[in-house]
Amino acid sequence: MVIAMKVHLLSYTKEAERLCAAAGRSCYSKKAASKLLEEVDPERAGAMIAEITGMGHHSVIEHASYTFSVEGVSRALTHQLVRHRIASFSQQSQRYVSIKEPTYVTPPSVSRDEALKEKFDSAMEVAWQAYRDLADKVPAEDARYVLPNACTTNVTVTMNARELWHFLTLRTCSRAQWEIREVAEEMLKQLKEVSPRIFSQAGPPCVRGPCPEGKLSCGKPRKRLVKKT
Ligand SMILES: Cc1cc2nc3c(=O)[nH]c(=O)nc-3n(C[C@H](O)[C@H](O)[C@H](O)COP(=O)(O)OP(=O)(O)OC[C@H]3O[C@@H](n4cnc5c(N)ncnc54)[C@H](O)[C@@H]3O)c2cc1C
Repeated sequence: MVIAMKVHLLSYTKEAERLCAAAGRSCYSKKAASKLLEEVDPERAGAMIAEITGMGHHSVIEHASYTFSVEGVSRALTHQLVRHRIASFSQQSQRYVSIKEPTYVTPPSVSRDEALKEKFDSAMEVAWQAYRDLADKVPAEDARYVLPNACTTNVTVTMNARELWHFLTLRTCSRAQWEIREVAEEMLKQLKEVSPRIFSQAGPPCVRGPCPEGKLSCGKPRKRLVKKT
């Protein structure tokens, strides 16, 4: 069964930009953040955040957090996603959820070649047939050992804005694997809609400066972002 990848921003910190700006200003003011929050002009919040984080004071954007539901992706993707340690995850269990029909992600390099796709699909059928046979006799937690990396899953992920910046730097880069890159690009698009001032400069390193990848660089820098003030 083909399941399309979906990324939903489920929840995020209310007034994230004003909050981070007020928290940042509270470090340099006699006033407390409660008073500063009342005074922050949303139009100035972006410049304030850029100024403070520009000094290397990145912890101020940790006050904003964002929760996404990432659906219909492969376990090959989630294995990479969960390597990001400054994040919280809740992933569909293969111990408690038994999926008897094949549901898997086919890489585009496979799906564009009919013969390869046929080979891939039949390997999936064989794996799932073995899974069903085993699941009749042993617990799902043991039968799942025959399931492939391509198997689809759902995961809920929460990251703060600082970790998201780091994640997006690594995973929107063209060196990142295609599936996690698609998820990261979609997350960035949705983040720019709700917190444009925090995420205006987020993305691969080449949107902000030179590529750090050296010999591994793709040689195709993205369009540079205009510095927002
Ligand atoms: C293109 C690409 C290829 C990759 N290839 C491989 C591979 O072949 N094999 C492999 O195993 N992994 C691979 N990875 C995964 C990579 O090594 C990281 O595990 C993953 O990207 C998470 O990044 P991170 O550790 O920087 O971030 P996070 O875990 O999100 O942490 C964020 C930051 O917090 C700090 N931090 C977190 N935990 C610690 C700690 N314990 N000690 C000190 N500082 C800490 C670091 O500054 C870190 O950058 C690859 C990643 C990419 C993007």
